[in-house]
Amino acid sequence: MSNINIVDAPPGIEGSGFFATSLDKVIGLARSHSLWPLPFATSCCGIEFMATMGSHYDFGRFGSERLSFSPRQADLLMVMGTIAKKMSPVLKQVYLQMAEPRWVIAVGACASSGGIFDTYSVLQGIDEIIPVDVYVPGCPPRPEAILDGFGKIQELVKNESSRRRNSDQYREMLASYGIE
Ligand code: SF4
Repeated sequence: MSNINIVDAPPGIEGSGFFATSLDKVIGLARSHSLWPLPFATSCCGIEFMATMGSHYDFGRFGSERLSFSPRQADLLMVMGTIAKKMSPVLKQVYLQMAEPRWVIAVGACASSGGIFDTYSVLQGIDEIIPVDVYVPGCPPRPEAILDGFGKIQELVKNESSRRRNSDQYREMLASYGIE
């Protein structure tokens, strides 16, 4: 344990307490290579995800071949497809049922911004109801783009301080979505 640096938290970053920088890195590295995605697929973008999971693109080589269809056992929500406003409470409930730390990818134009469905019945981007960490553009995005977005999530996870989730800034961000 001699290589773990415990120092005071930098002022104004994440409250009081201690800061284990090297431990953060080890945890981040382990987490980033063992994410358990929950695919919330409602339409065509979900088909691209199926291709991403296949042997050619081999999503499993990143340690995430174990998909989770229970929010309780998932830490990465991948939203793929058009989200109708009637579906919004379900998506939000799924997000709320996931334990911290949790990350979210909006895969494709529909999940990111409503896409071509600029209409009264479609959510114009899932970030209207839940926080999004990475947006993957495309209609649909090719599997390479989905993998690229996943790589960006891995970078986020790898570099995230384990104390961020307890920070005032994080709680304020959740509060802006009406999440306690
Ligand atoms: Fe379908 Fe395009 Fe919307 Fe993806 S972004 S769900 S491919 S319409």
